[in-house]
Amino acid sequence: MPTWTLNTEFTFDAAHSIGGYDGKCARMHGHTYRVRISAKSHTLNPSKYLDTPDMVCDFNELKWAGKDSEKGGFDHGILDELMPVNTTAERIAEYIHKETKSRIPGNIELTVTVWETENSWVEYTDKDV
Ligand SMILES: [Zn+2]
Repeated sequence: MPTWTLNTEFTFDAAHSIGGYDGKCARMHGHTYRVRISAKSHTLNPSKYLDTPDMVCDFNELKWAGKDSEKGGFDHGILDELMPVNTTAERIAEYIHKETKSRIPGNIELTVTVWETENSWVEYTDKDV
């Protein structure tokens, strides 16, 4: 079966605190988060910028979370105020996955990886692996 996997990576700087955590992560602090989004599809689609079905989806639709927090993304924002979930890396990945899904065609399988530090990351997908 023909399969395309679109990959993009971006970073954003943000503050957060982990609600209910017994330790220093409960205090407000910051990370440079790195995000990788993989979008896998067996068919190609049109997009907002291209009428013909020649893309998995537009890279721009995958990169929204890296934008300025005053323009709909997370960069230089306080994550606790920007997402309705506790801001563990696991929940951030799940939230980015859900929000990105709503911006792209339905036939795309997404995997979202979030690095909280250079050597600690989590991968989220809604499909069994
Ligand atoms: Zn943290």
